[in-house]
Amino acid sequence: MTLNSPLLPEVKGYIDGAWQGADDATTFQVTNPATGEVLAEVPAMGPAETTRAAAAAAAALEHESDLATRRRWLEAIAAALEQHREEIGRILTLEHGKPHAEGSGEALYAAGFFAYAARHIEALAPRTLEEQPRDCSWTIYQRPAGAVALVTPWNFPIGMIAKKLSASLAAGAPAVIKPSAKTPLTLIALLTLLDRELDLPSGMVNLVTGAAGPIGDALLSDPHIRVISFTGSTGIGQALIRGSADGVKRLALELGGNAPFIVFADADLEHAAEQLIANKFRGGGQTCVCANRILVEASVMEPFAERVAERARQLTVGNGMEPGVDIGPLIDRSGYDKVRRHYLDAIERGAVSVLGDDPGALERDYGAYFPPTVIRGVTPQMACWQEETFGPLVPMTAFSDESQALTLANDTEFGLAAYLFTADGARAERFIPRLQFPHVGYNTGSGPTPEAPFGGMKHSGFGREGGLEGLFEFIETQTVPTALKKQRS
Ligand code: NAP
Repeated sequence: MTLNSPLLPEVKGYIDGAWQGADDATTFQVTNPATGEVLAEVPAMGPAETTRAAAAAAAALEHESDLATRRRWLEAIAAALEQHREEIGRILTLEHGKPHAEGSGEALYAAGFFAYAARHIEALAPRTLEEQPRDCSWTIYQRPAGAVALVTPWNFPIGMIAKKLSASLAAGAPAVIKPSAKTPLTLIALLTLLDRELDLPSGMVNLVTGAAGPIGDALLSDPHIRVISFTGSTGIGQALIRGSADGVKRLALELGGNAPFIVFADADLEHAAEQLIANKFRGGGQTCVCANRILVEASVMEPFAERVAERARQLTVGNGMEPGVDIGPLIDRSGYDKVRRHYLDAIERGAVSVLGDDPGALERDYGAYFPPTVIRGVTPQMACWQEETFGPLVPMTAFSDESQALTLANDTEFGLAAYLFTADGARAERFIPRLQFPHVGYNTGSGPTPEAPFGGMKHSGFGREGGLEGLFEFIETQTVPTALKKQRS
C-alpha cells in the first residue's frame, strides 16, 4: 500500500465491531485519479459479508440507546472529524482528486451534520398529546426504523455519509454502509475514528466494501434492512425502486440534478459571476447542485459571459495536493469523456466557445484534467442541456423575458437545485414558487448546509437530509393510546 495514514491502520471492511477482509481474501485497487498510483488494496466483499453485516445491525437493535447516549456519540464524531480534518482531507483528495482545502473543508461540513443532529436530537423525544380523545392518553414515540443501508457516491466521500449516518445514529438505527468503490478509504478512516473514539455497540455501524451490484442485491433481499438511503445516479435509484417492491422497503433517494442558474439583467452581475464560479467549479463541477444550465437575460449575455470567462481563466487546474490548485482531475476517463462529448455536441450544434477549446481525447486512465470551459448559444436539443455534465463546462443560454426563463428553467425531468439572481423582489416572489426545484438559491449560489433540509423531487428522488426534517429519515413513528379509565383487576 502506498497510502500511509494514522487513520488507516487497517484497510478492511468493518462488521459487528471488528475489521474484516473478504471471505475469499480478494481485494480491489483504489487509485489516485491525479497520478494513477495505487493507493490501497481494499476487500472485495459480496453478498455473504453483506448478509452478516445486516444480521449484526439487526442484533444491535437489541441494545437500546437513550437520546443522551446518542447525543454523546454524535458530539464525539463531530469533534473527531474537526480534529482530524486535515488528514481526512488528505485521504479524500488522494482518492477523489479535489483540492486539499476542499477535502478538509468537506470534513468540517461533515462534522456539521453530526453536531447539528446532536443539538437537535430532542426533536426525537416522545411527546404526549394535550388532547385525550377516546378516553386515552396518547404518546408518540420516534423509534428506530430497523437496520438501515446507507449507499454513498464518490463525489463527496465524507459529506454524503455524514448526512445519512448523523440521522441513523440520532434515530438509534444500526447501519450497513456501502461506499463507492472509487473512494472507500475516506470511509475506512471514518470507521477508524468511530472504532477508536466511541463506545458504539458492536454492529451499530458496519462497512462493506466491494462490487456494488451483488452488495446492492443482498441489501434489497435482506429482511433485516428496513430502509435504504441512497445517493447516486437516477438510473441506479430507479433500479432500487423496482428492486425494493418485494421487500416493501422504505427508500430515501438523493439522485442526479440539472440545476438552472438564472440571471436577470437587473442582477448584480459581478456578484452573480462570482457565485457561479464558486458553485460551478466546486469539486471540479462534479456535484449534484452544480449549475448545469446558465440562463441569462439576452441584454446582458455578453458582459456576463465575459465576466465569467475572465474569472474562469484564472483558475488553476492540477493535482489537488499541490498548493494553489482550484480544480483537480475528473474522477476517471469516463467522466472526462462525458464532459468532452457535451462540449463537442454543443459546438457541432451551433454553440460558440467563449473560453476553452476541445482538449482532445484522454490518453490514459488518470490525470483527467478538463480545463474550465465557457460556451454560449446552448439550446434544449443539446446533450449538455438534457444531461448532468458533471464537469467544468459552463453552458449559457439567452432568454428574452420572465415567462421564457421559467419555461426553460423547468425544462428538465430533474428537480434538485436552482439559483435565481435578480434585484427585483416582486419578481422573485412570483418566480420562486413556480420553480420545480426544492432548493432555490436567491442571489446566492449556495448549496445545502447541515442546518436545513435538502433533497429532490421528480427524477432527483425523494426524502430529505439535514435540518429537522432529515432527523426523521430513519424513524418509525409509534403511537400508543393508553386507556385512562382504571382497568378492572
Ligand atoms: P452511482 O454510480 O449511481 O453510484 C452511487 C453509489 O451506488 C455507489 O456507492 C455505487 O457503487 C452504488 N451502486 C452502483 N450500482 C448499484 C446497485 N446496483 N445497487 C446498489 N448500489 C449501487 O453514482 P455516482 O456516479 O457514484 O455518483 C454521481 C451521481 O450522484 C450523480 O448523478 C449526482 O448528481 C448524484 N448525487 C446526488 C446528490 C443529491 O444530494 N441528490 C448528491 C451527490 C451526488 P460503486 O461506485 O462502487 O459502483
